[in-house]
Amino acid sequence: MKVLVINCGSSSLKYQLINSETEEVLAKGLCERIGIDGRLTHKPEGKETVEMEHPMPNHTEAVSLVLAQLTDEKNGVITSLDEIGAVGHRVVHGGEKFASSTLLTDEVIAKIEECNDLAPLHNPANLIGINACKELMPNTPMVGVFDTAFHQTMPEEAYLYGLPYEYYEKYGVRRYGFHGTSHSYVSKKAAEVLGKNPEDLRVIVCHLGNGSSICAVNRGKSVDTSMGLTPLEGVPMGTRSGSIDPAIVDFIAEKENLSLSEVMNVLNKKSGVQGLSQLSSDFRDLTDGSNNGNELATKALKVFAYNVGKYIGAYTAAMGGVDVVAFTAGVGENASQVREMIGTYLEFLGTKIDPEKNQVRGREAVISTDDSKVLAMVIPTNEELVIARDTVEILSK
Ligand code: AMP
Repeated sequence: MKVLVINCGSSSLKYQLINSETEEVLAKGLCERIGIDGRLTHKPEGKETVEMEHPMPNHTEAVSLVLAQLTDEKNGVITSLDEIGAVGHRVVHGGEKFASSTLLTDEVIAKIEECNDLAPLHNPANLIGINACKELMPNTPMVGVFDTAFHQTMPEEAYLYGLPYEYYEKYGVRRYGFHGTSHSYVSKKAAEVLGKNPEDLRVIVCHLGNGSSICAVNRGKSVDTSMGLTPLEGVPMGTRSGSIDPAIVDFIAEKENLSLSEVMNVLNKKSGVQGLSQLSSDFRDLTDGSNNGNELATKALKVFAYNVGKYIGAYTAAMGGVDVVAFTAGVGENASQVREMIGTYLEFLGTKIDPEKNQVRGREAVISTDDSKVLAMVIPTNEELVIARDTVEILSK
């Protein structure tokens, strides 16, 4: 079956058309600046990449343009929309309502809407994408795959905050965690690469990208993760602060004469390694900067590596040990220098990063020395493939 995977943001839409039997990507692309002007990058397999400016006043127009490209005589990879057997949608927040991927019926869509409060930046955009596809492909089944679902196995001591219990009961204030499709895929893939059963392994997955989260996967199940009610908690990220003393919010609001929402904007968009380095949120700029003597870039990288290391220590305690530490996503898969810095905090586990093996980029590999007790690995993530696989699995039920 050919599955169209859609990942819809507020002004962007990423897509992949995947042949689920061969797991081959037939085409992929990105619509940007939706609602502003509109730009499409379409990469059909074995053909030239198409880049075009095209008005996209809304997401329905963007989806319509994508479908036109997929079936286009020159740039297309299918002859008719009937060849698309299903659409798999990434949905960021499923609250406690969804512990697995689900067929998107009207009832399910209404339940996703109920989670909008928990992810006001993400869920409404996901729903716009779902509705746009429904309008243009009314007879094609659609499945929602949730970033939060994999973490629904966390025990309550991991997901409850030290807050009045009624906030959990009334508003669902708890840790949900994100990047679930990535943590699930990477922990399983690590086991597969090692020829082991995921149920025999304790894996700490470090998903380090623009947004970063760490996850303790104990014998195939998420038991704790660093992001919380929202994707702001955890390690410092590209522009997000990660965990801070909550009293800082009030303190800075007072000192800088900012409203609550202005402080939240600083924490989401002007903090993390960008805020620390005053240079960039991109780790390539930070490693280059640091190597050229930029002290703030070095500081930002040190704070980042230290915090990732601290979570690895905490999750080792949470699982009573660990067998594999796996690095994934843009930084985790590519930035050997950052992995090496994090590696200094793995020595208590009897793990040493092998400088030569650590030069790997974007492919599966063990990067620890042969005598390391706990393995360090690089495992490229593939969230779109998980969405396509889940979509087929749900439809086959
Ligand atoms: P992601 O959010 O997973 O797409 O990751 C994006 C981030 O990965 C970018 O912001 C870069 O900071 C980082 N990245 C990608 N390639 C490299 C690289 N070769 N070295 C360092 N960082 C990289």
